[in-house]
Amino acid sequence: MPRVRRTKIVATLGPASDSEEAIERLIRIGVDCFRLNFSHGTPEYHGMLVERVRAAQARSGRPIAILGDLQGPKLRVGKLAEPVDLETGQTVVLAGRGDALPGDLELGFPIDLSAHMRPGREVLINDGLIKLRVTESRERRVACAVEIGGLVTSNKGVNLPGAYLPIPSMTEQDHRYLDFALDNDVDYVALSFVRRAEDVEDLKRMVAKRRSRARVIAKIEMAEAIEHLEAIVAVADGLMVARGDLGVEIGAADVPLNQKKIIRLGLEAGKPVITATQMLESMIERPEPTRAEASDVANAILDGTAAVMLSGETAAGKWPFAAVETMVKIALAVEPNLQYHDTTYELSRLGSRYIADVVGHAACDIAETLGVSAIVVPTVTGESAREVSKHRPRRPIVAASHDPGVLQQLALDWAVVPIPLEPSSGVEDLWRKALDAVMRAGLAGPGDRVVITSGTHVNRPGSTNTILVQAL
Ligand code: PEP
Repeated sequence: MPRVRRTKIVATLGPASDSEEAIERLIRIGVDCFRLNFSHGTPEYHGMLVERVRAAQARSGRPIAILGDLQGPKLRVGKLAEPVDLETGQTVVLAGRGDALPGDLELGFPIDLSAHMRPGREVLINDGLIKLRVTESRERRVACAVEIGGLVTSNKGVNLPGAYLPIPSMTEQDHRYLDFALDNDVDYVALSFVRRAEDVEDLKRMVAKRRSRARVIAKIEMAEAIEHLEAIVAVADGLMVARGDLGVEIGAADVPLNQKKIIRLGLEAGKPVITATQMLESMIERPEPTRAEASDVANAILDGTAAVMLSGETAAGKWPFAAVETMVKIALAVEPNLQYHDTTYELSRLGSRYIADVVGHAACDIAETLGVSAIVVPTVTGESAREVSKHRPRRPIVAASHDPGVLQQLALDWAVVPIPLEPSSGVEDLWRKALDAVMRAGLAGPGDRVVITSGTHVNRPGSTNTILVQAL
């Protein structure tokens, strides 16, 4: 029986990987979900990527998720006539769009800085490489001492750690990209710079209004989001530990424990967590990871992350295929060490009163005790498969659905192998077809035992109430 990798791999597409051949090769090596980074490129470019992913997916025969990543309200330096070289020790005045006087550094956002930036606060530019500290704050502008200088060019990112800015959670560009993403049937929409649960709820409402089934991922990258983490986890469909901006916002030293906390809360809520950014950063230049990077990926997996993500490594690096291969190797090396309930101890202790949850958990217990080959979950919406995945069983979860969109979404869920299934007329027919599909996919064979969990009312979402143990 093939060894099924349980940790999913998200790869960001970009110039290093955007041809149809490259996308197909990445799928064959192990990518489960492609990220379109709407901070770069144009809608035309991303439209082309969607077409290429879907064509490559059809040829590879494996459902693949597409995640559209909205830039969110990221503060940036505005358009500069020419780059500004800030020297350590000098003073520079910062202002929101429309408030700058000649010689000031203007941000791309109209914002009253003096109302939110008291003396002593930090201003970080270009992922924290340039550091300023506010010395004076008055009449919508702030004077800053340059503590670490450098060259500032147009559009560079700006972080104001700890500042609570009254700006909308989505920009006009985000709204345009959301329309684009939903028109193109992406499976997931990620929102950057989420601060509160309402940011996620607003986006979910917009998605629902468009009658889209896209699931919403909250990117955790702000101190404010960490403060509201439990509420955000409760409303999001999934989470991303966006370690790049999170590290700038809260400091690199505070990222590891917050990463663990986000993964734990995701596990307890049964929501997939994607651990992202700089996982194999050195592979942008070199074909081998550093030992620290290998450990980083391994530890995220041991903590229970559902997916690991590649950014620059696959979008713009020299070794996109080797980077994915490395992720696959690390996952396969580490996963045998994951014991049932290792990461979900709290979940099993807390228990549940929901039938689908309890049945999903019991199916995992039986699969574990009997050592079956797979847990087969015929599913209409994908929810039952996620109910099983959240208990982190050691057997592959074969999610069978007749809905291609559901199968694509399930590509991101931990240990879930999505396979197509023809519609069924009744429960016996459903089980037979699901077992046939599992055998055809080579996930179980004669002599094997599998656990099937489904509802006795076929095609009715949320009706999971049955467990069957079947010898093949
Ligand atoms: C991050 O900041 O870590 C992240 C994933 O977001 P982006 O790549 O959009 O900056």
